[in-house]
Amino acid sequence: GTIAEKADARTGKSVPAVSGEELVKAVPGLAKVANIGVLNFMNIDSSQMTPGIWLKLSKKVNEIIKRPDIAGVVVTHGTDTMAEGAYFLELTVHSDKPVVFTGAMKDASDPCPDGPANILNAVIQASSKEALGWGVTVTLNNYVNGARDVRKTQTTNVQTFESGEKGYLGYVYDGKVRRFNDRIRKIKFPLPSKLPPVVFFSTYAGDRGDFIRYAVDKGAKGLVIDALGAGNVNAETCDAILYALSKNIPVVISTRVYYGSVVPAYGDHGGGGMLEKKGAILAGDLMGTKARLLLMLALAEVGNNPEKLKSYFE
Ligand code: ASP
Repeated sequence: GTIAEKADARTGKSVPAVSGEELVKAVPGLAKVANIGVLNFMNIDSSQMTPGIWLKLSKKVNEIIKRPDIAGVVVTHGTDTMAEGAYFLELTVHSDKPVVFTGAMKDASDPCPDGPANILNAVIQASSKEALGWGVTVTLNNYVNGARDVRKTQTTNVQTFESGEKGYLGYVYDGKVRRFNDRIRKIKFPLPSKLPPVVFFSTYAGDRGDFIRYAVDKGAKGLVIDALGAGNVNAETCDAILYALSKNIPVVISTRVYYGSVVPAYGDHGGGGMLEKKGAILAGDLMGTKARLLLMLALAEVGNNPEKLKSYFE
């Protein structure tokens, strides 16, 4: 991501350019905080990230974090898909040691890049006892966010990651981690060898449900729909969801609203209560793009078992 990008001399636009060693070298005082080993896992813009790559990343992090000489792991990652990547690792890394995702909103050729300070704080957190038990976090601009609830909220500002009404887990400043909050972490999966295709859509006023039908006909093994409000869709989208359910495709209903849960409040055609009765799974307050990752891992673990799948979302 941007943390490891520089302006291309010809186009002036950011492109992947910086190695892990160079990132570490660019941070004054880092060597005093910890002994750092660098692994150049890959350097791509995170818009090109896939669950398959996160699977490989998770495998690597699981291997590394087991070592007794390792206090924690920092993953530098593009901010565009960081919230999803962190959640994927949250679900699949089996350790209480800190795994800290960080990145930057301004690239390495910016006159005032945010990457070096973010790396410094991430390393402070990764080697701090105060951070034990938080699991995977997204730590940028001093704030520590839990992987499950974090989202990117601003396209260009260094203060972009927030945890909404749940609040930050903590704050890293002046070489120390301050702990505000804990989060209960329950779900863990073994790493599967591959992930089933699960498709995510956001609905809207006037949605005709065509894309849902298309995904079903093209072999999707699960669907996640960002619904309106507390989990409602219009009648045509509802028909398309019923079509998916009739083909035995699990459908998870999340919400496109920023805060709050999907609840079975409405019983009319397309209401959350009706969808749940027909077999759709309500995602609670887990955002749709992350519900997709959870459904993929759950399908890989327990197969298409409605009751077991549902239990992961409760
Ligand atoms: N283009 C970037 C990415 O890879 C954005 C960023 O890292 O801030 O996600």
